[in-house]
Amino acid sequence: METFSQEKISTLKTQLSQTKKIVITAHKSPDGDSIGSSLALYHYLIKKGYDVVVCHPDPAPHFLNWLDGFNDVMSLELNQPEVKDLIEQADLIFCLDYNALHRMGLEMEGVVRDSDAYRVMIDHHLHPSDEFDLSFSEIASCSTAQLIYDFIVALGDKEVLDVSIGEAIYCGIMTDSGSFRFPNTTPHTHEVIAELLRVGVSNSKIHEYVFDTNTIDRLKLRGYAINDKLEVMESCKTALMSLSKAELERFNYEKGDTEGLVNVGLSILGIGKSIFLSEGDGIIKISFRSKGADNPINEMASKYFHGGGHANASGGKFDGSMEEAIAEIKRVLPEFTK
Ligand code: 5GP
Ligand code: MN
Repeated sequence: METFSQEKISTLKTQLSQTKKIVITAHKSPDGDSIGSSLALYHYLIKKGYDVVVCHPDPAPHFLNWLDGFNDVMSLELNQPEVKDLIEQADLIFCLDYNALHRMGLEMEGVVRDSDAYRVMIDHHLHPSDEFDLSFSEIASCSTAQLIYDFIVALGDKEVLDVSIGEAIYCGIMTDSGSFRFPNTTPHTHEVIAELLRVGVSNSKIHEYVFDTNTIDRLKLRGYAINDKLEVMESCKTALMSLSKAELERFNYEKGDTEGLVNVGLSILGIGKSIFLSEGDGIIKISFRSKGADNPINEMASKYFHGGGHANASGGKFDGSMEEAIAEIKRVLPEFTK
């Protein structure tokens, strides 16, 4: 069925007509798409006269702080009582850039599960769960932000688009499509971008805000990771990089500082898979990337590392030491090597 069919859109319109309080949620560890899609929908709904707030599980990285409305975003981590109250009182919850409630982390999942609100999911990941009252799921879309554009158009509100909505959509599309280079970038993606530029969005400004905001510490951390920690396993055509908590602290790590490092490994000639591990509080977080339709990596993430995601971009975690995590990766890699 068409993602934004007349039937589903009219169901949503009926729901919205009975709605007083809306909360917009997205997955844990915010990225450009989860924040971009949330703020785009936020600005749109405000313009339409709704009472709406954005409540995420945890705060977003600083490189997104130029987005209009960034400081309005609340998180369960920093605003625990308010966020709990807002979700409890909501009539309708938008679930953006995730398709299963557990992707928000245990605590936020519990709060949303306990609420009686009508749940509307808009997302582009594989295997949507049935935990939503209404689902707009389109796995061929490069980003949830692009779906927010389609959603606004489907609601008949293309003329409502403005620079604030447009910049947020642009940011989500740009970050999730790897600056328009991943295979999920389609003619439609470029058509949407063209419309955003017509509204007055500045592509060069957004690119500069997102990519030209390195701190010296962040650059040195990247240099260290590439120079000292990059390992290439020729037989599996795989690049591996890891950063322990102590290493991160040495470079005054801040959220977002390791963003994109996994793609550095993937850029090596002849390499088909790249894996990046970083140590958080008591857990090893793992990013998986691969190249090619015949070279998916999400199965490795889901089968061995409690994760999953897109065929060529997945995530997961490992409960144990960094050494054990790396040993486990090396043990299972041959199973996914042709
Ligand atoms: P990242 O490496 O940027 O953290 O994650 C890459 C992609 O993998 C995300 O966009 C998300 O779609 C997916 N992903 C990350 N962690 C998980 C996880 O724990 N479970 C699932 N199902 N997908 C994940
Ligand atoms: Mn996304």
